[in-house]
Amino acid sequence: MVKSIDATVAIIGAGPSGLLLSQLLHQSGISSVIVERTSKKRVLERIRAGILERGTVEGMEEAGCAERLHAECIPHDGVILSFDGEQFEIPVKAITGHQVIVYGQTEITKDLIDACEARGQRIYWDCADAELAGLDSNAPQVGFTTPDGETISLSADIIAGCDGFHGISRQSIPAARLREFERTYPFGWLGILVDQPPVAHNVIYANHQDGFALASMRSETRSRYYVQSAPGESVDDWSTERFWEAFTHRLGDLGKQVKTGEPIEKSIAPLRSYVSEPMRHGRLFMAGDSAHIVPPTGAKGLNLAFADVRRLSRAIAQWHASGSEEPLEGYSIEALARVWKVERFSWYLTSMMHQFPEHSGFEKNMQRAEFDYIRASEAGQTMIAENYVGLPF
Ligand SMILES: Cc1cc2nc3c(=O)[nH]c(=O)nc-3n(C[C@H](O)[C@H](O)[C@H](O)COP(=O)(O)OP(=O)(O)OC[C@H]3O[C@@H](n4cnc5c(N)ncnc54)[C@H](O)[C@@H]3O)c2cc1C
Repeated sequence: MVKSIDATVAIIGAGPSGLLLSQLLHQSGISSVIVERTSKKRVLERIRAGILERGTVEGMEEAGCAERLHAECIPHDGVILSFDGEQFEIPVKAITGHQVIVYGQTEITKDLIDACEARGQRIYWDCADAELAGLDSNAPQVGFTTPDGETISLSADIIAGCDGFHGISRQSIPAARLREFERTYPFGWLGILVDQPPVAHNVIYANHQDGFALASMRSETRSRYYVQSAPGESVDDWSTERFWEAFTHRLGDLGKQVKTGEPIEKSIAPLRSYVSEPMRHGRLFMAGDSAHIVPPTGAKGLNLAFADVRRLSRAIAQWHASGSEEPLEGYSIEALARVWKVERFSWYLTSMMHQFPEHSGFEKNMQRAEFDYIRASEAGQTMIAENYVGLPF
Protein backbone atom coordinates (compact mmCIF):
# COMPACT_ATOMS: atom_id res chain seq x y z
CA MET A 1 0.00 0.00 0.00
CA VAL A 2 1.52 3.32 -1.09
CA LYS A 3 0.61 6.47 0.80
CA SER A 4 0.30 9.58 -1.41
CA ILE A 5 1.20 13.01 -0.06
CA ASP A 6 1.84 16.33 -1.79
CA ALA A 7 3.58 19.67 -1.30
CA THR A 8 4.55 22.54 -3.53
CA VAL A 9 8.24 21.76 -3.04
CA ALA A 10 9.83 18.38 -2.24
CA ILE A 11 13.21 18.93 -0.58
CA ILE A 12 15.80 16.15 -0.68
CA GLY A 13 18.20 16.46 2.27
CA ALA A 14 17.95 18.01 5.75
CA GLY A 15 21.40 19.57 5.76
CA PRO A 16 21.71 23.35 6.12
CA SER A 17 20.53 23.94 2.51
CA GLY A 18 17.34 21.89 2.74
CA LEU A 19 16.44 23.18 6.20
CA LEU A 20 16.96 26.85 5.29
CA LEU A 21 15.00 26.46 2.04
CA SER A 22 12.05 24.91 3.86
CA GLN A 23 12.03 27.74 6.41
CA LEU A 24 12.30 30.50 3.78
CA LEU A 25 9.51 28.93 1.72
CA HIS A 26 7.35 28.74 4.82
CA GLN A 27 7.87 32.49 5.36
CA SER A 28 6.43 32.98 1.85
CA GLY A 29 3.47 30.70 2.55
CA ILE A 30 4.79 27.84 0.38
CA SER A 31 4.51 24.25 1.61
CA SER A 32 7.42 21.82 1.50
CA VAL A 33 8.27 18.31 2.64
CA ILE A 34 11.83 17.30 3.57
CA VAL A 35 13.14 13.76 2.99
CA GLU A 36 16.45 12.92 4.70
CA ARG A 37 18.59 9.82 4.28
CA THR A 38 20.02 9.70 7.78
CA SER A 39 18.86 10.24 11.40
CA LYS A 40 18.21 13.54 13.15
CA LYS A 41 20.91 12.62 15.70
CA ARG A 42 23.52 12.10 12.97
CA VAL A 43 22.62 15.37 11.22
CA LEU A 44 22.89 17.27 14.52
CA GLU A 45 26.27 15.73 15.35
CA ARG A 46 28.06 16.67 12.12
CA ILE A 47 30.91 19.08 12.85
CA ARG A 48 31.71 21.16 9.80
CA ALA A 49 31.67 24.87 8.99
CA GLY A 50 31.85 27.74 11.47
CA ILE A 51 32.74 31.06 9.80
CA LEU A 52 29.68 32.86 8.46
CA GLU A 53 29.47 35.68 5.94
CA ARG A 54 27.02 38.54 6.36
CA GLY A 55 24.80 37.08 3.59
CA THR A 56 24.48 33.86 5.58
CA VAL A 57 23.49 35.82 8.67
CA GLU A 58 20.92 37.70 6.55
CA GLY A 59 19.56 34.35 5.38
CA MET A 60 19.05 33.23 8.97
CA GLU A 61 17.39 36.59 9.73
CA GLU A 62 15.02 36.24 6.74
CA ALA A 63 14.19 32.75 8.02
CA GLY A 64 13.36 34.20 11.48
CA CYS A 65 16.02 31.95 13.04
CA ALA A 66 18.81 34.37 13.99
CA GLU A 67 18.00 35.12 17.63
CA ARG A 68 20.45 32.64 19.22
CA LEU A 69 23.01 33.32 16.50
CA HIS A 70 23.07 37.03 17.39
CA ALA A 71 23.24 36.27 21.11
CA GLU A 72 26.07 33.73 20.91
CA CYS A 73 28.17 34.51 17.82
CA ILE A 74 31.72 35.87 17.94
CA PRO A 75 32.36 38.68 15.42
CA HIS A 76 35.71 38.80 13.63
CA ASP A 77 37.18 41.99 12.23
CA GLY A 78 40.21 40.49 10.51
CA VAL A 79 42.06 37.42 9.29
CA ILE A 80 45.74 36.60 9.82
CA LEU A 81 48.01 35.21 7.09
CA SER A 82 51.30 33.55 8.05
CA PHE A 83 54.17 32.40 5.83
CA ASP A 84 57.03 30.41 7.36
CA GLY A 85 56.32 32.05 10.71
CA GLU A 86 55.95 35.68 9.45
CA GLN A 87 52.48 37.06 10.07
CA PHE A 88 50.26 39.99 9.23
CA GLU A 89 46.58 40.74 9.68
CA ILE A 90 44.16 41.83 6.96
CA PRO A 91 41.70 44.24 8.66
CA VAL A 92 38.64 43.03 6.78
CA LYS A 93 36.15 45.21 8.66
CA ALA A 94 38.21 48.38 8.22
CA ILE A 95 38.51 47.62 4.48
CA THR A 96 34.98 46.45 3.68
CA GLY A 97 32.83 47.78 6.54
CA HIS A 98 31.68 44.20 7.20
CA GLN A 99 32.61 41.36 9.54
CA VAL A 100 32.36 37.60 9.50
CA ILE A 101 31.06 35.79 12.57
CA VAL A 102 31.85 32.50 14.27
CA TYR A 103 28.75 30.34 14.79
CA GLY A 104 28.96 26.60 14.17
CA GLN A 105 27.11 24.72 11.43
CA THR A 106 25.86 22.37 14.18
CA GLU A 107 24.13 25.35 15.86
CA ILE A 108 22.62 26.57 12.57
CA THR A 109 21.28 23.10 11.88
CA LYS A 110 19.80 22.89 15.37
CA ASP A 111 18.13 26.33 15.07
CA LEU A 112 16.58 25.40 11.71
CA ILE A 113 15.36 21.98 12.88
CA ASP A 114 13.86 23.59 16.01
CA ALA A 115 12.03 26.13 13.81
CA CYS A 116 10.72 23.36 11.57
CA GLU A 117 9.44 21.36 14.51
CA ALA A 118 7.97 24.44 16.20
CA ARG A 119 5.72 25.04 13.21
CA GLY A 120 4.68 21.40 13.19
CA GLN A 121 6.44 20.39 9.98
CA ARG A 122 7.53 16.78 9.90
CA ILE A 123 10.93 15.88 8.49
CA TYR A 124 11.07 12.35 7.10
CA TRP A 125 14.29 11.12 8.78
CA ASP A 126 16.09 7.85 7.98
CA CYS A 127 14.71 7.45 4.45
CA ALA A 128 17.67 6.14 2.49
CA ASP A 129 15.97 4.98 -0.69
CA ALA A 130 14.54 8.20 -2.18
CA GLU A 131 13.98 8.03 -5.94
CA LEU A 132 13.11 10.96 -8.19
CA ALA A 133 10.80 10.62 -11.20
CA GLY A 134 9.07 12.81 -13.77
CA LEU A 135 11.70 15.55 -13.64
CA ASP A 136 10.92 16.62 -17.21
CA SER A 137 7.23 17.07 -16.39
CA ASN A 138 5.38 19.68 -14.30
CA ALA A 139 4.46 16.98 -11.79
CA PRO A 140 7.68 15.40 -10.52
CA GLN A 141 7.58 12.78 -7.78
CA VAL A 142 9.72 11.43 -4.98
CA GLY A 143 9.24 7.87 -3.78
CA PHE A 144 10.69 6.71 -0.45
CA THR A 145 10.18 4.34 2.46
CA THR A 146 10.01 5.41 6.10
CA PRO A 147 11.84 3.45 8.85
CA ASP A 148 8.42 2.01 9.81
CA GLY A 149 8.20 0.42 6.37
CA GLU A 150 5.60 2.84 5.00
CA THR A 151 6.04 3.49 1.27
CA ILE A 152 5.34 7.09 0.32
CA SER A 153 4.79 8.78 -3.03
CA LEU A 154 5.35 12.52 -2.73
CA SER A 155 3.96 14.68 -5.57
CA ALA A 156 5.30 18.21 -5.94
CA ASP A 157 5.56 21.08 -8.41
CA ILE A 158 9.27 21.44 -7.78
CA ILE A 159 12.02 19.22 -6.36
CA ALA A 160 14.94 20.89 -4.59
CA GLY A 161 18.11 18.79 -4.62
CA CYS A 162 19.75 19.78 -1.31
CA ASP A 163 21.32 16.38 -0.66
CA GLY A 164 25.02 17.18 -0.74
CA PHE A 165 27.82 15.83 -2.89
CA HIS A 166 26.90 12.14 -2.49
CA GLY A 167 23.14 12.61 -2.86
CA ILE A 168 20.68 11.17 -5.34
CA SER A 169 19.57 14.42 -7.02
CA ARG A 170 22.57 15.07 -9.25
CA GLN A 171 22.73 11.37 -10.09
CA SER A 172 19.12 11.56 -11.32
CA ILE A 173 20.10 13.95 -14.12
CA PRO A 174 21.01 12.20 -17.39
CA ALA A 175 24.82 12.28 -17.77
CA ALA A 176 24.51 13.84 -21.23
CA ARG A 177 22.81 16.90 -19.69
CA LEU A 178 25.57 17.60 -17.11
CA ARG A 179 28.92 19.31 -17.44
CA GLU A 180 31.27 18.56 -14.56
CA PHE A 181 34.45 20.46 -13.63
CA GLU A 182 36.78 19.12 -10.96
CA ARG A 183 40.15 19.74 -9.33
CA THR A 184 41.31 17.43 -6.56
CA TYR A 185 44.20 18.56 -4.38
CA PRO A 186 47.11 16.31 -3.39
CA PHE A 187 46.46 16.66 0.36
CA GLY A 188 43.73 16.70 2.99
CA TRP A 189 43.00 18.54 6.22
CA LEU A 190 43.28 16.79 9.55
CA GLY A 191 40.98 18.71 11.89
CA ILE A 192 40.58 18.55 15.65
CA LEU A 193 38.13 20.14 18.05
CA VAL A 194 39.55 20.88 21.49
CA ASP A 195 38.11 22.49 24.60
CA GLN A 196 40.78 25.16 24.95
CA PRO A 197 40.60 28.91 24.25
CA PRO A 198 41.65 29.84 20.68
CA VAL A 199 45.29 30.89 20.23
CA ALA A 200 44.23 34.20 18.62
CA HIS A 201 40.98 36.12 18.37
CA ASN A 202 41.04 35.99 14.56
CA VAL A 203 41.48 32.99 12.26
CA ILE A 204 45.07 32.24 11.20
CA TYR A 205 45.94 30.71 7.80
CA ALA A 206 49.55 29.50 7.81
CA ASN A 207 51.74 28.25 4.97
CA HIS A 208 54.85 26.58 6.40
CA GLN A 209 57.48 24.54 4.59
CA ASP A 210 56.18 21.49 6.50
CA GLY A 211 52.61 22.14 5.30
CA PHE A 212 49.51 24.24 5.91
CA ALA A 213 47.95 24.94 9.32
CA LEU A 214 44.73 26.74 10.26
CA ALA A 215 43.73 28.05 13.68
CA SER A 216 39.99 28.65 13.90
CA MET A 217 37.45 28.44 16.71
CA ARG A 218 33.87 27.59 17.63
CA SER A 219 33.62 29.66 20.84
CA GLU A 220 35.79 31.49 23.39
CA THR A 221 36.57 28.11 24.98
CA ARG A 222 36.50 25.72 22.01
CA SER A 223 39.09 25.75 19.22
CA ARG A 224 39.05 24.17 15.75
CA TYR A 225 42.57 23.49 14.49
CA TYR A 226 43.79 21.88 11.27
CA VAL A 227 47.03 20.70 9.64
CA GLN A 228 47.66 19.64 6.04
CA SER A 229 47.81 15.84 5.80
CA ALA A 230 49.26 13.66 3.03
CA PRO A 231 47.00 11.76 0.59
CA GLY A 232 45.94 8.38 1.96
CA GLU A 233 46.68 9.30 5.59
CA SER A 234 44.03 8.46 8.19
CA VAL A 235 43.38 9.88 11.65
CA ASP A 236 45.20 6.84 13.06
CA ASP A 237 48.41 8.12 11.46
CA TRP A 238 48.10 11.29 13.54
CA SER A 239 48.59 10.74 17.26
CA THR A 240 47.56 13.69 19.42
CA GLU A 241 51.24 14.32 20.15
CA ARG A 242 52.13 14.39 16.43
CA PHE A 243 49.28 16.78 15.74
CA TRP A 244 50.30 19.33 18.41
CA GLU A 245 53.94 19.20 17.40
CA ALA A 246 53.12 19.88 13.73
CA PHE A 247 50.45 22.49 14.44
CA THR A 248 52.45 24.59 16.93
CA HIS A 249 55.60 24.44 14.79
CA ARG A 250 53.74 25.62 11.65
CA LEU A 251 52.32 28.68 13.48
CA GLY A 252 55.78 30.10 14.27
CA ASP A 253 56.00 32.26 17.41
CA LEU A 254 52.23 32.17 17.88
CA GLY A 255 52.53 28.39 18.22
CA LYS A 256 54.20 28.86 21.62
CA GLN A 257 50.94 30.34 22.96
CA VAL A 258 48.73 27.42 21.87
CA LYS A 259 46.94 25.68 24.74
CA THR A 260 46.97 21.99 23.90
CA GLY A 261 44.70 19.23 25.20
CA GLU A 262 42.95 15.99 24.29
CA PRO A 263 40.81 16.48 21.15
CA ILE A 264 37.08 15.85 21.51
CA GLU A 265 36.86 15.18 17.75
CA LYS A 266 39.39 14.32 15.07
CA SER A 267 38.69 13.83 11.36
CA ILE A 268 40.31 14.06 7.92
CA ALA A 269 38.65 15.74 4.94
CA PRO A 270 39.92 15.58 1.34
CA LEU A 271 40.16 18.85 -0.60
CA ARG A 272 38.31 19.27 -3.86
CA SER A 273 36.95 21.96 -6.16
CA TYR A 274 33.90 20.76 -8.12
CA VAL A 275 31.09 22.34 -10.14
CA SER A 276 28.24 20.64 -11.95
CA GLU A 277 26.36 22.66 -14.57
CA PRO A 278 23.53 23.50 -15.01
CA MET A 279 21.97 23.68 -11.55
CA ARG A 280 18.56 22.86 -12.98
CA HIS A 281 17.14 19.90 -14.86
CA GLY A 282 13.43 20.25 -15.68
CA ARG A 283 11.66 20.63 -12.35
CA LEU A 284 14.73 19.66 -10.29
CA PHE A 285 16.74 22.58 -8.84
CA MET A 286 20.10 21.94 -7.16
CA ALA A 287 21.42 23.98 -4.23
CA GLY A 288 24.53 23.72 -2.06
CA ASP A 289 26.99 20.84 -2.06
CA SER A 290 24.82 18.78 -4.42
CA ALA A 291 25.96 21.11 -7.23
CA HIS A 292 29.39 22.28 -6.12
CA ILE A 293 32.20 21.72 -3.63
CA VAL A 294 34.89 24.16 -2.58
CA PRO A 295 38.00 23.30 -0.58
CA PRO A 296 37.49 24.57 2.99
CA THR A 297 40.21 27.25 2.63
CA GLY A 298 38.39 30.57 3.06
CA ALA A 299 35.34 28.90 4.72
CA LYS A 300 33.00 29.24 1.75
CA GLY A 301 31.10 25.91 1.51
CA LEU A 302 28.18 26.64 3.81
CA ASN A 303 28.09 30.31 2.81
CA LEU A 304 27.83 29.43 -0.87
CA ALA A 305 25.12 26.87 -0.13
CA PHE A 306 23.08 29.56 1.68
CA ALA A 307 23.54 32.00 -1.22
CA ASP A 308 22.06 29.36 -3.59
CA VAL A 309 19.16 28.73 -1.23
CA ARG A 310 18.28 32.40 -0.81
CA ARG A 311 18.28 32.81 -4.59
CA LEU A 312 16.23 29.66 -5.15
CA SER A 313 13.67 30.54 -2.46
CA ARG A 314 13.13 33.95 -4.09
CA ALA A 315 12.74 32.41 -7.55
CA ILE A 316 10.20 29.89 -6.23
CA ALA A 317 8.30 32.60 -4.33
CA GLN A 318 8.10 34.78 -7.47
CA TRP A 319 6.99 31.82 -9.60
CA HIS A 320 4.39 30.87 -6.98
CA ALA A 321 3.00 34.40 -6.78
CA SER A 322 2.98 35.15 -10.52
CA GLY A 323 2.73 31.78 -12.26
CA SER A 324 5.52 32.93 -14.56
CA GLU A 325 8.36 30.45 -15.29
CA GLU A 326 10.83 33.30 -15.81
CA PRO A 327 12.22 33.47 -12.23
CA LEU A 328 12.87 29.69 -12.28
CA GLU A 329 14.55 29.91 -15.67
CA GLY A 330 17.10 32.47 -14.41
CA TYR A 331 18.10 30.49 -11.31
CA SER A 332 20.91 28.31 -12.65
CA ILE A 333 22.72 31.05 -14.60
CA GLU A 334 22.50 33.55 -11.74
CA ALA A 335 23.59 31.04 -9.09
CA LEU A 336 26.52 29.80 -11.21
CA ALA A 337 27.83 33.35 -11.68
CA ARG A 338 28.44 33.49 -7.93
CA VAL A 339 29.56 29.85 -7.67
CA TRP A 340 32.48 30.38 -10.05
CA LYS A 341 33.67 33.52 -8.24
CA VAL A 342 33.64 31.68 -4.93
CA GLU A 343 35.35 28.65 -6.50
CA ARG A 344 38.05 31.04 -7.74
CA PHE A 345 38.68 32.51 -4.28
CA SER A 346 38.80 29.11 -2.54
CA TRP A 347 41.16 27.74 -5.20
CA TYR A 348 43.35 30.87 -5.01
CA LEU A 349 43.73 30.73 -1.22
CA THR A 350 44.30 26.95 -1.32
CA SER A 351 46.97 27.41 -4.00
CA MET A 352 48.75 30.16 -2.06
CA MET A 353 48.68 28.56 1.40
CA HIS A 354 49.53 24.85 0.92
CA GLN A 355 52.63 22.80 0.19
CA PHE A 356 52.11 20.91 -3.08
CA PRO A 357 54.30 17.79 -3.49
CA GLU A 358 54.80 18.53 -7.20
CA HIS A 359 55.95 22.13 -6.67
CA SER A 360 59.47 23.11 -7.67
CA GLY A 361 61.39 26.05 -6.24
CA PHE A 362 59.69 28.24 -8.85
CA GLU A 363 56.15 27.68 -7.51
CA LYS A 364 57.35 28.05 -3.93
CA ASN A 365 58.86 31.43 -4.81
CA MET A 366 55.59 32.39 -6.54
CA GLN A 367 53.72 31.66 -3.28
CA ARG A 368 56.22 33.73 -1.32
CA ALA A 369 55.94 36.60 -3.81
CA GLU A 370 52.14 36.47 -3.59
CA PHE A 371 52.30 36.64 0.22
CA ASP A 372 54.74 39.59 0.13
CA TYR A 373 52.60 41.38 -2.47
CA ILE A 374 49.41 41.01 -0.43
CA ARG A 375 51.18 42.15 2.74
CA ALA A 376 52.35 45.36 1.06
CA SER A 377 49.36 46.11 -1.16
CA GLU A 378 46.10 47.76 -0.14
CA ALA A 379 44.54 46.54 -3.40
CA GLY A 380 45.69 42.97 -2.73
CA GLN A 381 44.29 43.03 0.82
CA THR A 382 41.02 44.51 -0.45
CA MET A 383 40.62 41.60 -2.89
CA ILE A 384 41.03 39.08 -0.07
CA ALA A 385 38.89 41.07 2.41
CA GLU A 386 35.88 41.50 0.12
CA ASN A 387 35.85 37.82 -0.82
CA TYR A 388 36.39 36.75 2.79
CA VAL A 389 33.39 38.69 4.15
CA GLY A 390 31.30 37.54 1.18
CA LEU A 391 30.57 39.10 -2.18
CA PRO A 392 27.39 41.21 -2.33
CA PHE A 393 24.28 39.10 -2.81
C1 LIG B 1 34.22 17.27 6.83
C2 LIG B 1 33.72 18.59 6.31
C3 LIG B 1 34.21 19.79 6.85
C4 LIG B 1 33.75 21.03 6.36
N1 LIG B 1 34.24 22.20 6.90
C5 LIG B 1 33.79 23.38 6.41
C6 LIG B 1 34.25 24.62 6.92
O1 LIG B 1 35.10 24.66 7.81
N2 LIG B 1 33.75 25.78 6.38
C7 LIG B 1 32.78 25.77 5.39
O2 LIG B 1 32.28 26.82 4.96
N3 LIG B 1 32.34 24.62 4.90
C8 LIG B 1 32.80 23.44 5.39
N4 LIG B 1 32.34 22.29 4.88
C9 LIG B 1 31.35 22.40 3.85
C10 LIG B 1 29.96 22.63 4.45
O3 LIG B 1 29.79 21.82 5.58
C11 LIG B 1 28.97 22.31 3.37
O4 LIG B 1 29.18 23.22 2.29
C12 LIG B 1 27.53 22.38 3.83
O5 LIG B 1 27.26 21.35 4.75
C13 LIG B 1 26.59 22.25 2.62
O6 LIG B 1 25.30 22.06 3.06
P1 LIG B 1 24.28 21.21 2.18
O7 LIG B 1 23.02 21.22 2.96
O8 LIG B 1 24.28 21.71 0.79
O9 LIG B 1 24.90 19.74 2.11
P2 LIG B 1 25.11 18.69 3.29
O10 LIG B 1 25.50 19.36 4.54
O11 LIG B 1 25.98 17.63 2.73
O12 LIG B 1 23.66 18.10 3.53
C14 LIG B 1 23.06 17.21 2.62
C15 LIG B 1 22.04 16.38 3.34
O13 LIG B 1 21.41 15.52 2.40
C16 LIG B 1 21.32 14.22 2.95
N5 LIG B 1 21.26 13.24 1.85
C17 LIG B 1 22.26 12.78 1.09
N6 LIG B 1 21.80 11.90 0.19
C18 LIG B 1 20.48 11.80 0.39
C19 LIG B 1 19.45 11.02 -0.22
N7 LIG B 1 19.72 10.17 -1.21
N8 LIG B 1 18.18 11.15 0.26
C20 LIG B 1 17.90 12.01 1.26
N9 LIG B 1 18.85 12.77 1.89
C21 LIG B 1 20.11 12.67 1.45
C22 LIG B 1 22.58 14.09 3.80
O14 LIG B 1 22.45 13.06 4.77
C23 LIG B 1 22.66 15.48 4.41
O15 LIG B 1 21.93 15.56 5.61
C24 LIG B 1 32.79 21.06 5.34
C25 LIG B 1 32.30 19.86 4.80
C26 LIG B 1 32.76 18.63 5.26
C27 LIG B 1 32.22 17.35 4.65
